[in-house]
Amino acid sequence: MFSWLKDNRRRQILAKPFPPEWLAYLRQNVAHYSCLSEAEQAKLRDDLRIFVAEKRWEGCGGLEVSDEMKVTIAALACLLVLGLHIDSFNRVPTILVYPRGFQIPSKYHGTDVIFEGHAAIGQAIYRGPVILSWEDALAEARQPGGGINVVFHEFAHELDMLNGAVDGTPPLDNDQQTARWQRVMSREFDRLAVASGRGRATLLDHYGAHNEAEFFAVATECFFDQPGEMQRRHPRLYDLLKGYYRQDPAARSPQSRNPVS
Ligand SMILES: [Zn+2]
Repeated sequence: MFSWLKDNRRRQILAKPFPPEWLAYLRQNVAHYSCLSEAEQAKLRDDLRIFVAEKRWEGCGGLEVSDEMKVTIAALACLLVLGLHIDSFNRVPTILVYPRGFQIPSKYHGTDVIFEGHAAIGQAIYRGPVILSWEDALAEARQPGGGINVVFHEFAHELDMLNGAVDGTPPLDNDQQTARWQRVMSREFDRLAVASGRGRATLLDHYGAHNEAEFFAVATECFFDQPGEMQRRHPRLYDLLKGYYRQDPAARSPQSRNPVS
């Protein structure tokens, strides 16, 4: 879409008052929302309206996508880019929503299996849709603090993919940040891989030890969902992600929560 047309459309979307029932969905479903400052809440409300309007939403497995689902998923996705730009998700055309976990089918070359299908609660496809289980997205939105959030995870993959590679390194500002990123991420990834190999309990989900891309997605989940713990136990990783996301979620203590507006 031409940029002036897009800007004009966005202005029209934001000129309307924020629907009161959408505010109720944020209040009921998105626990992270109440931890934000008033300015952050206002930006999130604007961003999520644009996100809801510009994405194609498709229900799968018999699900009909409701406004509640759109608002809840959009709020979590937009929280990731609150310090960046909503255009970071321009390459995600569609959100597919299943009622619960779904099956990713196997891929074949002739009769050979080249990709083993498996059960999933989320999937991010390069320049394609993000696929989510509503049951899991809702439960994790309502009860944060477990370090797991499928919406954060899949949209972190989308940020990672912005430079064309799925390698755990999204586009960064400069060489200095890139060098620091590689240094901190590789050390933290190795640390998780060793702990995971030994079966030790860790703050970061062992799934992050699969590869660098999964590590970035898992670290993002923890950064937004258990920021205080991450800052205490992985201070360098926390600072790195704070610089990238331009947010400091550990500073948003639940005690200083703003009344939800
Ligand atoms: Zn993943």
